[in-house]
Amino acid sequence: MAHEAATNVLDGPDGLASVRGWQEEFYRDLHAHPELPHQENRTASNVAARLREAGLEVHEGIGGTGVVGILRHGEGPTILLRADMDALPVREQTGLPYASNQTTSDGTPVMHACGHDVHVTCLLGATTLLARAPAAWSGTLVALFQPAEETADGARGMLDDGLADLVGKVDVGMAQHVLPLPAGTVGTRTGPVLSAADSMKVTLHGRGAHGSMPQASVDPVVLAASIVMRLQTIVAREVAPGDTAVLTVGSIQAGTKSNVIPDQAVLQLNVRTYDEQTRTAVLAAIERIVRAECIASGSPQEPEFELFDRYPLTDNDPTVTDRVAAAFAAHFGEHAVELAQQSASEDFSDIPRALGTPYTYWGIGGIDPDLYRTAEQAGCISQDIPVNHSATFAPVLQPTLDTGTRALVAGALAWLHRSSATH
Ligand code: ZN
Ligand code: ZN
Repeated sequence: MAHEAATNVLDGPDGLASVRGWQEEFYRDLHAHPELPHQENRTASNVAARLREAGLEVHEGIGGTGVVGILRHGEGPTILLRADMDALPVREQTGLPYASNQTTSDGTPVMHACGHDVHVTCLLGATTLLARAPAAWSGTLVALFQPAEETADGARGMLDDGLADLVGKVDVGMAQHVLPLPAGTVGTRTGPVLSAADSMKVTLHGRGAHGSMPQASVDPVVLAASIVMRLQTIVAREVAPGDTAVLTVGSIQAGTKSNVIPDQAVLQLNVRTYDEQTRTAVLAAIERIVRAECIASGSPQEPEFELFDRYPLTDNDPTVTDRVAAAFAAHFGEHAVELAQQSASEDFSDIPRALGTPYTYWGIGGIDPDLYRTAEQAGCISQDIPVNHSATFAPVLQPTLDTGTRALVAGALAWLHRSSATH
């Protein structure tokens, strides 16, 4: 029944065919005008205008530039669909006619290199279609447009600004991300689907000296090198074989000159895990090793630790995911697949977790299916397919936008379609 409702909404005379034109135009314009986290002003006002046009109750400026559209339509569950709006400091090299040449006032290039422009466009399309088809559903639809996903604080910012009071009780939360999979594909997964991420800045203290007099120093370069090597043993020796963790030292900075031993070194680490227990254990192991190595070196001062860019674990609710996966299987057939666990991270789940709402997060493909097939046959997926955050990542317009819009409508109607209105 949900399937029939989705087909009617999407493929009827007022369906996708009636929104595809403006969606594509909206997408090209948004892609050409990306905005960095917390600066999504133009995007937010265009989103708000579209939502008003579709007849939603619109709330702007939630947590800075966040926008919430609400469509109340009788008895039934409240479903929250979320899209993130921010872009990245990347210089676009896609060569597309609608490529971004935007920079900030200080010259930082800006690009929708993560595909959040797809998410915004699809959610606007899905909301418009549902608003136009009141006979198909009953309940409340919350369309949430979140700022600053890339800095891990946009969802939190909306919550801190009273999101819970604004939306009330929410029964199900859903969000999607465009991924380097063939366009037209949707992928769901039960349980942990995206990793938790933690970044850590570690400041190590040594004693500076002339490069020719190491005996007078506590060399923080050697200390840092030793720590970097020893940290590798956490994943290799402390995480159980069946558990997964990634620990990357992405930045190491010390000194300015070959013959000066500096007095400080700064490491920046990134940790990805798929359960809270492993997460806590890995973070504790880092601190233990750093402190011990500092003692081993005779460091004159305790090291300092600062956690930042922390993303929660995205852990899909089995019941919600099963229902959405069944709706996708009915709607997309063989193009509905199981999504592999992703090592990327997201702050979406902060919202449903704070609201006490079960949620699911799925992936949609954005890569030209022919290009994907060719790369797959050549065994070169990892080299030939542009991935999120790269300067050449640009989803093909179609069927990506259609697929993301269909997925949101089918996902929402799995809960809101008329016969389930009393759930
Ligand atoms: Zn991203
Ligand atoms: Zn993203």
